[in-house]
Amino acid sequence: MLLLSSLGFSPSSSPAIRARRRLPQPTMAASEQKHVVVIGGGWAGYAAADALSASSDCRVTLLEASPRAAGGLAAGWRTPGGRPVEAGIHGFWREYRNTLAVLDSLGLDADEVLTPFTPTRLVSRTGNVAVAPVLNAGGPGASPAPAIMRPPPLSPDAALQRVAELLPAPLDTALLAEFDPSSPLTLADRASAIGLLACWADFLQEDDASWARYDGVSAEELFKRYGGVSDALYEEMVSPLLHVLPMAPGYDVSAAAALSCFHVFALQSRGAFDVRWCRGAISEKIFAPWQTQLEARGNVELRGGARVGRIGRLRGPGVEGKLSIELVPPPAAPPSSAAAAAGAAAEGGAAEKPFEEKLAMLRREGAATIARREAIAAAGPGLVLVELDTEAEEAEAEAAAPPATITADAVVLAVGGTSAARLAAASPETLGALQATSTWEGLRGVTCVAVRLYLQPSKVTTAGLGGGAHGGTRLPPAVAQAMAASPVVVCGPGVGGLPELTETGFCIYDLQRMHDEFAADGSAAVLEVDFYRADAIADLDDDAAARLALQAAAAALGLPAATELPPSLLLDYAVVRARRAVSHFDVGSCARSPPVALADGGGGGGGGGGAGSGLFVCGDWVDRAGHASWSTEKAVVTGRQAAEAVARELNLDGVDSVVIPAAEDTPQLSALRALAKTARSLLAPLAGSGSELPPPAPWALLRRK
Ligand SMILES: Cc1cc2nc3c(=O)[nH]c(=O)nc-3n(C[C@H](O)[C@H](O)[C@H](O)COP(=O)(O)OP(=O)(O)OC[C@H]3O[C@@H](n4cnc5c(N)ncnc54)[C@H](O)[C@@H]3O)c2cc1C
Repeated sequence: MLLLSSLGFSPSSSPAIRARRRLPQPTMAASEQKHVVVIGGGWAGYAAADALSASSDCRVTLLEASPRAAGGLAAGWRTPGGRPVEAGIHGFWREYRNTLAVLDSLGLDADEVLTPFTPTRLVSRTGNVAVAPVLNAGGPGASPAPAIMRPPPLSPDAALQRVAELLPAPLDTALLAEFDPSSPLTLADRASAIGLLACWADFLQEDDASWARYDGVSAEELFKRYGGVSDALYEEMVSPLLHVLPMAPGYDVSAAAALSCFHVFALQSRGAFDVRWCRGAISEKIFAPWQTQLEARGNVELRGGARVGRIGRLRGPGVEGKLSIELVPPPAAPPSSAAAAAGAAAEGGAAEKPFEEKLAMLRREGAATIARREAIAAAGPGLVLVELDTEAEEAEAEAAAPPATITADAVVLAVGGTSAARLAAASPETLGALQATSTWEGLRGVTCVAVRLYLQPSKVTTAGLGGGAHGGTRLPPAVAQAMAASPVVVCGPGVGGLPELTETGFCIYDLQRMHDEFAADGSAAVLEVDFYRADAIADLDDDAAARLALQAAAAALGLPAATELPPSLLLDYAVVRARRAVSHFDVGSCARSPPVALADGGGGGGGGGGAGSGLFVCGDWVDRAGHASWSTEKAVVTGRQAAEAVARELNLDGVDSVVIPAAEDTPQLSALRALAKTARSLLAPLAGSGSELPPPAPWALLRRK
């Protein structure tokens, strides 16, 4: 079954998992239960609600702005035509221990929900760079006997494999990565990465001082000026990875974030870069059963279509100090047909105009509500218009009716940084009054655009392809061959010289090889192109975005777009825009990342301190040093940590907030860290303070001159 057993966590042995499966025992009258409101229905919000609702001392209400209260940025839905749409495809890395524990706790078999570990092809602006192989296909528990105890290898490949097994991460990855013969990277370029070892060893993932030390320097400066990474290695490998992991160019990512992200996703252990993908929409495969399990507990209410506009504090007998959560009134009732869609558009003043014109107007104004989006999807064949999190939506709805209010003993914000900043600005007496939120207005979000292309299926199925869950595809044969090594292609910026991609990285997925539903249905080939830092693309209309996705995919795969991926192949497409919705780890962002407990008088970026405010926060941008994890895993971890903090403040018994620790350092990294620590303690008094970065690699110094 799942890798958790190989990590020492089996469904039967883990108290955390056993506890989550139990329903809370009703020991307390409902009127005595504390009421905790969780705002946001993504991984963080669900993890917090899950942990809290294990306690019968509280009841939990989860409020989510989008109509279905499930999934957050990872959410998906179906078009009226029944086609699944998602706000991007999401991978599960080997070390996502807490996320994988969620699957276990839901009784899901990871092998049925996720693809096998899958290689990744990396493409830069100059073409194919390398294929990152799966280093540990069987999971840690399935590791072969030690290399030196086995008979000698019989082929050069097997010999290489054996040598790599003897090397610590990340040297094994470097040795086994299959570099493309056309890649301009030389051995010297690859070796130049060694200059980063000092900073990698010096940066402690779960140490506030390390984050503070590296937060003011950009990733580009770290790699080039300190690490001495060659220009070619930076352009060919580092830059593409920065564009798809923290999703921004090196000058706009903090060195702390880059070190942490690369460590967690690639360097921390053998096969840390190994990744599995959901075999369908996460909302259906994972969040739907999670929702069912939570609702079965009886002390959880999950409400979709509930956007919070403000958090206030109540005064007076019986409610003194409680929090009031004001909901932005829901938009007008969803129209159910094309005619109703025209009616909805009429509110925007476009009633008499033809459909396409109304749609263009809605797009220009960015004011289509979710209800309208669905109506639009119903009305316009092949068209889904989605805007996540638009401020216009909020303002429009706010003007419509007085807000409904919910009272709570504690509130957990499980929203992204930019939404949290908006809530803090709208709530000056509660959130806005806390020291930890004083820097939030500087929080930024990365815009992502996910384009799903349903293509005319090729007459022939290309079979025997590597990676994913299925070996065959109905993509045009040349496209299928270009993606033979993996259904996942990771692309840096500047691919194909397309102006929209100058600062935009993207991933291409052959979903027929990844999603069971598409594998079983040969009526279309399905290619997904997800663009990151895609502000320019978000402003394109859907048709232009779909055409650009075809061009970008063709350029990355080294194929002529006009013959291999022409727009005439399009049967249908969906464009999802998540504007400023993904956490941006820019230079200085760690200082804006709060602790999970927003204490009155407590500061940001650390443990807090001061009296309890009843306000808590979780998500992938929160408490950077609290646990060495990123993205989904960080959201799950901070969700549980926030629940633990709520339990402490409200004296709740039985909250299930166990967090599985991140992977321990390998012996080799431990030894390096010990060296780095000694060097720091010897050099710090000479340098006058302990805050400087380690000395640059000698060849980096030479290049500076
Ligand atoms: C295209 C793309 C690809 C990605 N790929 C990966 C990947 O491969 N692997 C990975 O681990 N991560 C990936 N991520 C990142 C991952 O999706 C996030 O780390 C994760 O979703 C964060 O979860 P969260 O619960 O903290 O926040 P979110 O998922 O952002 O959820 C926050 C929720 O709060 C709701 N909300 C906001 N404001 C309010 C309000 N005022 N009232 C009520 N509700 C509100 C929002 O609607 C949203 O549903 C990707 C993200 C994108 C966009």
